Amino acid sequence: MPPRWRALRPGFVVALVVVVAIVAFAVHAARSGPPPPPFGMSGAAAASPSPEPSAAGAGAAARPDLLRGRTVLLDPGHNGGNARAPAAINRKVLAGGIAKECDTVGSQTVDGYPEHAFTFDVATRVAELLRGRGATVVLTRTDDNGVGPCIDERARIGNDAHADAAVSVHADGGPASGTGFHVIAPSLSPDGGNAVILAPSARLADAVGAAFERSTGETRADYIAHDGLAFRTDLGGLNLSRVPKVFIECANMRNPADAARVSDPAWRGRAAQGITDGITAFLTVPPS
Ligand SMILES: [Zn+2]
Repeated sequence: MPPRWRALRPGFVVALVVVVAIVAFAVHAARSGPPPPPFGMSGAAAASPSPEPSAAGAGAAARPDLLRGRTVLLDPGHNGGNARAPAAINRKVLAGGIAKECDTVGSQTVDGYPEHAFTFDVATRVAELLRGRGATVVLTRTDDNGVGPCIDERARIGNDAHADAAVSVHADGGPASGTGFHVIAPSLSPDGGNAVILAPSARLADAVGAAFERSTGETRADYIAHDGLAFRTDLGGLNLSRVPKVFIECANMRNPADAARVSDPAWRGRAAQGITDGITAFLTVPPS
């Protein structure tokens, strides 16, 4: 060992210890960082850049003015009277460059719990939670016994209300082997009319999906969509909306495990909490 090396050794040892400490800290920080993956396209909600961490969570319930001045459109899918009015709900309406049925009957569990009852129950719970945070809430239907309204009318109600956010609540009727939830955001409608809502709707989808996943523990759909998120151009409710809007398919009613969840009032409460927190995050957290 040359003398020069010997002379430098104490300083070198100190430097080596410092470098090792820095590397060890960096490795630890990387391992304990925020959990992947972000939900959906932008990851805005998963990254939680919120200046108010409680804004979208339980703390929001204690802030009755949080959503004061904001309007939310809630659209419980289908209706209890649709099955007895096939002529009315099968007639075609214009749906943004395509023609679609006015409405549909919806899905149900094997045990006969209907989607229209599920969506009405969840949407009613969301409405109560949002009003508790100061929001003005408009529903496309206020009971579960009627027919419709048609999909074009459902969109018009949100547009006329100048809603800051709109959410259609559904549960899917997919293959029995498939499980999980997914959120549907609009792509450009065939008539191009919904261009202005595409970006904010994608943010709303991220926020609602992330909060729903947190609140319910439901997994992202394994039989449809991509990582719990789908973009579609064939839904009148999205094609005709001029306010930020998404659909959430909360579960697959034809899957036995999902059917048990949607049939459980406590789970529906968690579903409503998740949707509420997602809407709240969208309305209170600035875009990143
Ligand atoms: Zn539906």
